[in-house]
Amino acid sequence: MIKLNLVLFGPPGAGKGTQSNFLIERYGLVHLSTGDLLRAEIKAESELGLQAKTLMDRGELVGDDIVIGMIRNKMEAHLDAKGFIFDGFPRTHAQAEALDVMLDAKNEPIVAMLALEVPEEELVTRLLGRGATSGRTDDQDEAVVRNRIREYEKKTAPLKDFYSAQGKFKAINGVGSIADITERLVKAIG
Ligand code: ADP
Repeated sequence: MIKLNLVLFGPPGAGKGTQSNFLIERYGLVHLSTGDLLRAEIKAESELGLQAKTLMDRGELVGDDIVIGMIRNKMEAHLDAKGFIFDGFPRTHAQAEALDVMLDAKNEPIVAMLALEVPEEELVTRLLGRGATSGRTDDQDEAVVRNRIREYEKKTAPLKDFYSAQGKFKAINGVGSIADITERLVKAIG
């Protein structure tokens, strides 16, 4: 059976986490969010968590080897999954290459890269709003929020070309009601 492996893509605040919750439910997928995995490490006060926290608090990316290792472990823990939703991963060219190598080895490639598109000012408003209630410190400081968006534009947005070249890139309008956006994603998955 073909596995429904999806990359849910987009800048910080685009709604990847929210939409992942609907998609895992609908298609029975396993959610792999590197942001969530890193926050779990911070909570557990692990060595890895301590290292990651400094970078995350500045709005910078955590090292490729760390996040690739975390993803590899989680994939090995869910060999029977109907598919994975990769949320917040890959974020660099090296991560995208490593993911392809891992998936090609199992003959279970990425089926589609769904890119949620939201204008920058809307992202900043959403993130600062989330920071006011979620306790996420990286959502509370406008300079950190803007730095994350810069990091996205510089290192992550170019992955659209990487997946376009494989014929997998699909742009999705990320502005509207949560239900409308879910519908757009479901249509794109087909
Ligand atoms: P957001 O998409 O809102 O920025 P995430 O929870 O996905 O939130 O990520 C929070 C932080 O965790 C990022 O700013 C970055 O420091 C780190 N991080 C998450 N995923 C990755 C990744 N794939 N590569 C490097 N750093 C990551």
